[in-house]
Amino acid sequence: AKHLGTHGVQLHDPSMIDRRAADAQLSDDLAGALDRGELHVLYQPLVDLAGSRPVGVEALVRWQHPRLGPVSPAQFIPIAERSGTITSIGLFVLETACRQVAGWDGLYVSVNLSPRQLQEPTLVQDVLDVLARTGLAPHRLVLEITESALVDESAGIAMLSEFRAHGIRVAIDDFGTGYSSLHYLTRLPVDILKIDRSFVAELNGTPEGSGITEAVLRLSQVLHLTTVAEGIETTEQAAELQTLGCGIGQGYLFARPLPPAELLEMLVTTAS
Ligand code: C2E
Ligand code: CA
Ligand code: CA
Ligand code: CA
Repeated sequence: AKHLGTHGVQLHDPSMIDRRAADAQLSDDLAGALDRGELHVLYQPLVDLAGSRPVGVEALVRWQHPRLGPVSPAQFIPIAERSGTITSIGLFVLETACRQVAGWDGLYVSVNLSPRQLQEPTLVQDVLDVLARTGLAPHRLVLEITESALVDESAGIAMLSEFRAHGIRVAIDDFGTGYSSLHYLTRLPVDILKIDRSFVAELNGTPEGSGITEAVLRLSQVLHLTTVAEGIETTEQAAELQTLGCGIGQGYLFARPLPPAELLEMLVTTAS
């Protein structure tokens, strides 16, 4: 609750001030985290729903804070976005993931790009340089972008076209949670829609539960896009998604984000 001062001025909630101080501290800590080797990358399998085999992985960054322990990316990515450190963190994740996945034949890697990265004029060249250094073929890289990063961003949209001209694919992350119109989507240069996990969580075998997922799948068919469903936690959800025509799934049902050695182990045991 906000407190009214003597002149009726609204002061900030003390807990909000604490939170700001904590964020400012995290922001300072994050500035040196990369150089101190506190960041690493985990890999969550993207699974072919028909055969239950991994076809790719999503790279997800982790921060092991020396005092606080693991800090969630949901907490520190927005901070990095505001301070600008996301630019170097994003390139670190990209390079680490491309180098790692170059050694996993047959898999592609999906890397998250934050809105701020799309505003860097050098982004396309930076990505091409990483591919050259790591030897990963462009068709094995997917860049994930949220809808909100692209609204009214003609420069960002032009970059996506450039990526695609080089054979790099583009995915819209958390699809359905943003505000872009369907008409707008038809003009976006993208290859993949990732159905947000809030819609997957609604699947319960009823038409009401599957409404949005079905609509997205129909839309992606018309637009010749690939769909990936996120946050699959139950066999029922996986089965319903497959019935509805979704090709690829991701979620704790298959695996959590894993360190490279464990991901490799999973690849070995699912290959046959
Ligand atoms: P996201 O891109 O939507 O990534 C998927 C998130 O869902 C991951 O959380 C993943 O661990 C989680 N997840 C996967 N399967 C399930 C499931 O079955 N159930 C539930 N409840 N969750 C599931 P994580 O790793 O904590 O990342 C959170 C967010 O932080 C990401 O959401 C993404 O927006 C951001 N993020 C993570 N790594 C990076 C990165 O390298 N760069 C940027 N820009 N953002 C990142
Ligand atoms: Ca993502
Ligand atoms: Ca997502
Ligand atoms: Ca998300």
